[in-house]
Amino acid sequence: RKDTGRNGYSFFDPSMNANAEEHLQMVQDLRQAVEKGELLLHYQPRFDDPEGPIRGAEALVRWQHPHRGLIQPDDFIPTAEKTGLIIDIDNWVLDEACRQLKQWRDQGRDWTISVHLSPLQFAHADLIQTVRSALKRHELPPNSLILEITESTAMRNVDASMVILKQLDDLGVKISIDDFGTGYSSLLYLKRLPASELKIDRGFIKELVRDTEDAAIVSAIIALGKALQLKIVAEGVETRAQQEFLSELGCDALQGYLLGHPVPAAEFPGLDT
Ligand code: C2E
Ligand code: CA
Ligand code: CA
Repeated sequence: RKDTGRNGYSFFDPSMNANAEEHLQMVQDLRQAVEKGELLLHYQPRFDDPEGPIRGAEALVRWQHPHRGLIQPDDFIPTAEKTGLIIDIDNWVLDEACRQLKQWRDQGRDWTISVHLSPLQFAHADLIQTVRSALKRHELPPNSLILEITESTAMRNVDASMVILKQLDDLGVKISIDDFGTGYSSLLYLKRLPASELKIDRGFIKELVRDTEDAAIVSAIIALGKALQLKIVAEGVETRAQQEFLSELGCDALQGYLLGHPVPAAEFPGLDT
């Protein structure tokens, strides 16, 4: 899944040609990125019905580096996670995404916002308080916030996850299990997990129409979601054929370049209607 950056290599992969000094410099830069206001969010629209209205957006972080240009999350999130800087980043993302959603809702758009929780953030003692105060600060109904945690984060320590997810559920926010299908879910736990949706990883969507194994996996995930009364979201929908295939299987929500690219809030579709 790991793509190289726009610049052709991944800055933070020390095994690549980027030397250790350069790597250290980037860690240093990342340390200041939040304070200096260099992070920004792009938003990708999400639909229940491809012909219907936008129902929400996923917030995706980018880093506007003063010399390197726009850096994609796959090129700095792994380092941010290793250094613990992800906590500040995810806190900033949560606050900024909530601020943007409030603005949209004040304009009459009854949308949801999806925000990522990294493994560190998910396990952090302040998580519940952080989420509660972000909702309060921006006067948002809890169910307008969808927190995305990956399947592997959720399943790493299932008993601890269950406690945290229960607290988030009590707060009234929604939980999405991201990159579903790439981890190892215990079906027993999945049944008890207070999540609202499963997000099928785009790795399974890519060859969905041609690859019978991917098609079987996707239809199994959709059937599982239906049995457990979870909403099923597909990401990475790029073609009409994929969209029709997913609709026929009964997929509940869609995201992908076919329906809308991630863009800055100012360019978000549907705001002039
Ligand atoms: P993800 O959560 O699986 O997000 C989906 C990725 O697929 C995004 O890449 C999105 O731009 C891209 N995408 C959307 N539609 C399509 C499509 O139709 N085709 C293709 N090929 N790609 C599509 P992005 O923005 O580079 O984000 C990569 C990953 O970085 C995300 O994967 C997520 O795991 C992580 N990430 C992004 N923002 C945040 C954040 O604020 N906090 C944390 N902790 N992680 C983040
Ligand atoms: Ca996601
Ligand atoms: Ca994914």
